[in-house]
Amino acid sequence: MAAFGTVFTPDMMLAEFANNQWSEPALVPVNSISLHPGAHVLHYASTCFEGLKAFRHADGSVHIFRMDRNIARLQQSSALLALPAFDGAMLRQMILDIVKRYAADVPNPPGSMYIRPTHIGTEPSIGKAAAPSLNSMLYVLLSPVGDYFAGGARPLRLLLEDNARCAPHMGMVKSGGNYASALQPIMKARAAVQADQVLFCPNGDVQETGAANFLLIDGNEIITKALDASFLHGITRDSILTLARDRGMKVSERELTVDELLERAVKPGAEAALSGTAAVLTPVGTLIHNGQEYAVGGGQTGNTTASLRQALNDIQWGKAADPHGWLTKVC
Ligand SMILES: *Cc1c(COP(=O)(O)O)cnc(C)c1O
Repeated sequence: MAAFGTVFTPDMMLAEFANNQWSEPALVPVNSISLHPGAHVLHYASTCFEGLKAFRHADGSVHIFRMDRNIARLQQSSALLALPAFDGAMLRQMILDIVKRYAADVPNPPGSMYIRPTHIGTEPSIGKAAAPSLNSMLYVLLSPVGDYFAGGARPLRLLLEDNARCAPHMGMVKSGGNYASALQPIMKARAAVQADQVLFCPNGDVQETGAANFLLIDGNEIITKALDASFLHGITRDSILTLARDRGMKVSERELTVDELLERAVKPGAEAALSGTAAVLTPVGTLIHNGQEYAVGGGQTGNTTASLRQALNDIQWGKAADPHGWLTKVC
């Protein structure tokens, strides 16, 4: 299987904003766009994206998971980057059209069709360092993907880092600029302590990793940072918390300090996990802080993590009822 995110369908849906209006969305070859080298996005990072998935059920039908949430989040990201506003119904139809066209290419579970809506500022103006792009492109790419963790979900090693992932007022934007700001800390953590990811904890406040939210599970309680502007509001996070509430778990959305995390994580029965569309819910086995390693749950494998992950997959794969109406049937 090719590496995650390296295979694309030959066509995508594209809409362009110019002269104060959106073009009619069109199906175009993925290699058909061209950008001026002075395009706003290439210099001032006016870019945001989404990641969601379509799943194939046993009867052959294809379903998209929580599409409306991803559309709303791209609208929010676009607004925070001062990109042109777009109608959610337009993007919804673009997603439905492209997924329907490539429905035959949606892999069977544990694979899926990864959907990547992207919105970029295209105005050719290097003078607009402090002004929004008046032109933009909104497109929807598709990438069939296998199991993100083909080798089995090995518990991850996280390095706790005292700095923030990105500027605090940009946390809610799913934007390339924030990934750029997290790249060097992650590369250093890999090289220095063989960490898989960095858990960003500015001033001791446990936030999130480079591309996933962080959850501490302690017995019947799940603890995760309450929503604020400083980090990305994951749709997987929300889904997992909803499933946890459904089964009677106590969900605590509040501040979690590094001190409390390290104290509770090492207790027997404690679990930690990362949530995100690509990773679903991935167990964390080791926390690394100030040169010391902390085995989460005293080294036991997390049953609650595994069972919440399975419950989410069962809904996505059509093996369990969808009581919250999270799936949209495409065909
Ligand atoms: C996309 C992303 C997440 C996970 O969001 P989901 O909606 O669950 O996929 C978490 N953190 C960051 C920084 C992200 O970019």
